[in-house]
Amino acid sequence: MLHPDSALLTIETIEPCIDKEHVDIVKSIGRILPDSVYSSIESPPFSKAAMDGYAVLSDDTSPSFKILETIAAGDIPSVEVTPGTCSRIMTGAMMPEGADKVVRVEFTEENDGIMDIVQEEPNGNVIRKGENLKPGDEILKPRILKPQDIGILASLGISAVQVSKPPLVGIITTGSELTNPGDPLKPGHIYNSNGYQLCAQTEALSCPWKYYGVVVDDPEILLKQFTLAFSECDFVLFSGGVSMGEFDFVPEIIRKGGAEIVFHKLAIKPGKPTLFARKENTYAFGLPGNPVSTFIIFEVMVKPALLRWMGLTWKPDLVRGTLEETIKRKDSDRLEYRPVTFRRGNVIPLTYHGSAHLNALSRANALIRIEQGVNHIEKGSELDVRLI
Ligand code: AMP
Ligand code: MG
Repeated sequence: MLHPDSALLTIETIEPCIDKEHVDIVKSIGRILPDSVYSSIESPPFSKAAMDGYAVLSDDTSPSFKILETIAAGDIPSVEVTPGTCSRIMTGAMMPEGADKVVRVEFTEENDGIMDIVQEEPNGNVIRKGENLKPGDEILKPRILKPQDIGILASLGISAVQVSKPPLVGIITTGSELTNPGDPLKPGHIYNSNGYQLCAQTEALSCPWKYYGVVVDDPEILLKQFTLAFSECDFVLFSGGVSMGEFDFVPEIIRKGGAEIVFHKLAIKPGKPTLFARKENTYAFGLPGNPVSTFIIFEVMVKPALLRWMGLTWKPDLVRGTLEETIKRKDSDRLEYRPVTFRRGNVIPLTYHGSAHLNALSRANALIRIEQGVNHIEKGSELDVRLI
């Protein structure tokens, strides 16, 4: 069985799509920035006051200062500051000629156009021209754009940004036992949760999706839907029907549909039957039907694949945590991703009755990785924690 890390290396061979879109910065939230952004301006574009106060010469030891003018943010100063003089200045306003320091207003007294310093100002309180950025400085590396990135782009005068075109993701849920939410549950049926969960996970990556609905375990109908989805989409995600059961037709359908199976079965828990296939630049994943497995395999395998297609070789952010309870497991032949609650640096493993126990995920905000060959992790151990 293939190690999940080797599977991820295979996923990294996905050819990124070179199509880009120019979008308004506000609309670019959650989108993929595939190329670094460089500044074309200096920041700040002029030396400015960092505080409300009086602009003076830093080496001026005069006992008092004649006030020349008031400079508000946005004003252009009109007079040069010379020894014995100063200009009243507001935070963010342009420093006048001659002055190189701002004495904060709280350290001064003002009477009849004269300012006296009553407490020594230890700081310069000037943000110098170009201090934060010079033209050509790299300001954003490739990433998933967050609100603070939008602020940074705007601060550089950039109103629209090049983001990756996202793949269209087709989602097919297989299973003759599935009833959709909103309909009365039929005897012998369970509610279809994977279809909706996969649409939501795809949406959370800002990728458009097309849901092909529930398909019963019938090879002819499945092949028809797969052929349609594979011709319309860049990725097709199947849930269910990928293991060894008599009605698990997905591997055979994917082959018949003309895709080559890159891997099938991983040394991973949950999600052992996971399948990945490709035909040129179109990809298919077979995800196991158990909802916890579907969720975790999307997170650890499909997410990096979609991001890679959009030009980002993504690695999850890890934080460190301390295990609150000893973990023991009988089989250690697979690498396990276990849902946990991560709170104030503590890792609390969830009571979790196997991969059908979806509601256990309601308390999960992170995953931990238990390596192959490890069947015991002692309480108090330090672990890498992957936030979800
Ligand atoms: P399978 O991988 O098709 O053998 O399904 C494994 C288990 O997951 C079975 O108990 C299925 O009933 C369940 N399952 C499959 N598809 C879904 C789905 N879309 N939503 C919820 N449970 C599912
Ligand atoms: Mg099934």
